[in-house]
Amino acid sequence: MDVIVAKRAGFCPGVKRAIDKVLELEASGNTPVYTIGPLIHNKQVTQQLAEKKITSIDKPQQAADKNGVLVIRAHGITPEFQREVESCGMRVVDATCPLVKHAQNVIAQYAAKGYQTVIVGDSEHAEVIGLMGYTQGKGMVVAGPEEARHLPHFEKVNIVSQTTQKESVFFETAEEIKKHADICQVSNTICQPTKERQKETIELAKSADLVIVVGGKHSANTARLALLCKALTSAVQHVETETELDEKLIRNAKKIFITAGASTPSWVIDRVAERVKQLRTG
Ligand code: SF4
Repeated sequence: MDVIVAKRAGFCPGVKRAIDKVLELEASGNTPVYTIGPLIHNKQVTQQLAEKKITSIDKPQQAADKNGVLVIRAHGITPEFQREVESCGMRVVDATCPLVKHAQNVIAQYAAKGYQTVIVGDSEHAEVIGLMGYTQGKGMVVAGPEEARHLPHFEKVNIVSQTTQKESVFFETAEEIKKHADICQVSNTICQPTKERQKETIELAKSADLVIVVGGKHSANTARLALLCKALTSAVQHVETETELDEKLIRNAKKIFITAGASTPSWVIDRVAERVKQLRTG
């Protein structure tokens, strides 16, 4: 009873959909499967995919077998790159998450009406790089309100968020950007699964003595989830697998909350939860 695992821990629908598509393609025949960039930022899943000969490449020219299938990952890509991929002569499967597509459409729609775009997010993240491609060359990225203070004046600006952005950061940043614009459109494109995960985390992390966040150390959404937890409770451990668990912290905590990023597979979460329970009873 004193170890709670988040109901919304692990793969989000967009990531699950992309992985299912890739595994389906791999199972359906002898065709090699290539993904444009790593499907997700999780070492354990990446290893499993590599064992199945599902290869991550940066561009179509790197595919060793041109009879293979190219898969666009859940993060999406720029329209220019999409055209390049689709005209390379290989079979292409687009696994862009529909909720990322929604953000791309919102940007394209306002850019066509002459709006500049400010994306609240991580400028180096693949999703944000893809989103920038829809701004008609009039896009900027800010990480939060502090960076927004240095923005120029806009006649018309559309403020959009990376789909995994923390809601409070998005709204605080939007408030700052409004001071720089005559006409301002606030487009909250944080996806519903992220909102639900954040809501659940806020509710449960507050009352826990220890929060364990499971997921890749290079996963942006897992790192953001860990940061959110650190603002709510003093003891937070971010682990990739059960081997990194801090036994002393676990034995001393009365109530433990386990959550995970959108790129963490359920079997990794289960192993962490199992080990935590063993340590509590052992
Ligand atoms: S985090 Fe949200 S938008 Fe991103 S892939 Fe998952 S469901 Fe889609």
